[in-house]
Amino acid sequence: MIPYFIPDMPKTEALIPYLKEIDNNLWYSNFGPLYHQLIQKIADNCLDNIATNKLTLVSSGTSAIELALRSLNLPAGAKVLTTSFTFPATVEAIINAGLTPVLSDINKNNWFLTPEIALRNTKLHNIAAVVPVAAFGMPVCSESWANFYKKTNLPVVIDAAAALMNQSINENLIYAFSLHATKPLGAGEGGLVVCPNKSQASFIRKMSNFGFEAGRTINNVGTNAKMSEYHCAVGLAQLDRIKEIKQKNSFILNKYKSLFEQHHLKVQTQAGLESFVPASLYVLFEHHTDELFERLLEQGIESRRLYWPLIQGFPAFSDNTIPASLNFKNANRVSSQGLALPFHNHLTEQDIENTVSILSTVLNKKAQQL
Ligand SMILES: *Cc1c(COP(=O)(O)O)cnc(C)c1O
Repeated sequence: MIPYFIPDMPKTEALIPYLKEIDNNLWYSNFGPLYHQLIQKIADNCLDNIATNKLTLVSSGTSAIELALRSLNLPAGAKVLTTSFTFPATVEAIINAGLTPVLSDINKNNWFLTPEIALRNTKLHNIAAVVPVAAFGMPVCSESWANFYKKTNLPVVIDAAAALMNQSINENLIYAFSLHATKPLGAGEGGLVVCPNKSQASFIRKMSNFGFEAGRTINNVGTNAKMSEYHCAVGLAQLDRIKEIKQKNSFILNKYKSLFEQHHLKVQTQAGLESFVPASLYVLFEHHTDELFERLLEQGIESRRLYWPLIQGFPAFSDNTIPASLNFKNANRVSSQGLALPFHNHLTEQDIENTVSILSTVLNKKAQQL
């Protein structure tokens, strides 16, 4: 069986030096030495040397989005525009922050909620903030969202959960990243918020620790969303091998791309794939998606529908979200025609050749039947 995803995480031996540091420090959570080491290394290696006082590590990507939204101090129930084509955590964070998700359709090429779509909806729905999603780890255009912010004055929190190292930062926007094992920089569990300024970052840090202020008083209801020293240890060990991980990953993407060309495979890939390596290789087939899924499975190859169903298709979100599209034309097409192909660093070249050759055989047979 070839699974559609297997994380590429550090082995025990690579963790040991960092675990020994924890033994020596006798410090296990609450912003310890490894927390500060990890934040410094992420700033230097993944975020173009951004000032570390704009960063906060938290316990997950979901809590990163939720706390970023809480730091905006919006009125209870205020409407937040986001996309129907995302991982459910985006919408759960909005609801758990006491806000109301308004769901938009997506752009047909990059599969994002874009500033153009947002501009059409902000006035119509009395929107108070926007949460665009960097779908499948492909970066959103920070520059055009910064222009949107300047034009509308609406805060923008980018769910860039799977886009660390792809997503560029603009100092007017807030970014939430995930450090889950399945994301580009895995720590097991973890999250990262990038803020426009240090006071917002420090508010989020306090909120992640029950809301405690320096004098042990509490002014705002917080939560426990801290990243432990043990998780930071894994993140640090992972950063030591990040170059190698990224090299392997882009080798695998290029192998797929050249085989798609070789087989003249008729697939639509996500805009931006020329320049960036995505977290998931999600491709659209104009026809026969269900059949392709079955034929791959018969040959022991697992593929997946992702961001499926659309958010409004989950019972939990049927009566607490507001649709901002009549028919979600693009989102419906992308979510029903797409499959995430096996895409991870444990694949062999042979695995990829088998996968593409099965797709090609099925599609050619179908074409001849027409
Ligand atoms: C993974 C992911 C999340 C959730 O991150 P966690 O760290 O698992 O909480 C949110 N949004 C998107 C788009 C994701 O891919």
